[in-house]
Amino acid sequence: MLSKKQTQQAVEIMGKMFPNAQPSLDARTPFQYMISVMLSAQATDISVNKVTPKLFRDFPDPQAMAAASKTALQADIHSIGLYRNKAKHMKAASQALLDDFNGVVPSTRAKLMQLPGVGRKTADVVLADAFGIPAFAVDTHVTRVTKRLRMVPQKATVLEIEQRMMKLLPEDLWVTAHHRMIYFGRYHCLARAPKCEQCPLLSICADGQQRLGLKNK
Ligand code: SF4
Repeated sequence: MLSKKQTQQAVEIMGKMFPNAQPSLDARTPFQYMISVMLSAQATDISVNKVTPKLFRDFPDPQAMAAASKTALQADIHSIGLYRNKAKHMKAASQALLDDFNGVVPSTRAKLMQLPGVGRKTADVVLADAFGIPAFAVDTHVTRVTKRLRMVPQKATVLEIEQRMMKLLPEDLWVTAHHRMIYFGRYHCLARAPKCEQCPLLSICADGQQRLGLKNK
């Protein structure tokens, strides 16, 4: 397993590789950001950004989205995977915001997770990117990268990854590290064909060394 120092150095190197790593969802308000993150489950941010301009023109706030028909919501997001379920959750979450939070998106994880369709990852991304509150969200890229680099145990759950990374990294690096790891996973340490030969982290990456036959499995 990588030490705390090695983990922080790895994140620093990822920052040099991807100096512009930042949130890629387009949204103007915490509400719109929350909806965008809900839509991004099992979908790319690019595909979400294609549908949200019309969606947020039609239904810009919780009032409008709660009053919308499911059919109208589905029509705006039908190109996104799982759109029926997502439309249902968007409407229900909007209604819950009106009923329980005066129409304002809450800024704590516990309250966010009370909303239909908002899990821990969505809550963490909203906290970090809409409110600037330190959180370390774990998605598929972060899971793959932290496991390949042995920052976390191979069998670690999403929650265990989050907790271990928050121990390994200083709080002021949580949000930045999350974005760097997403870029690193999306463009370099790809799921099927990681670019190990040209990876600046190869010397500390057990997975990469095994792939290249530099280390016994
Ligand atoms: Fe990913 Fe390969 Fe780099 Fe390891 S050496 S971090 S597996 S690209």
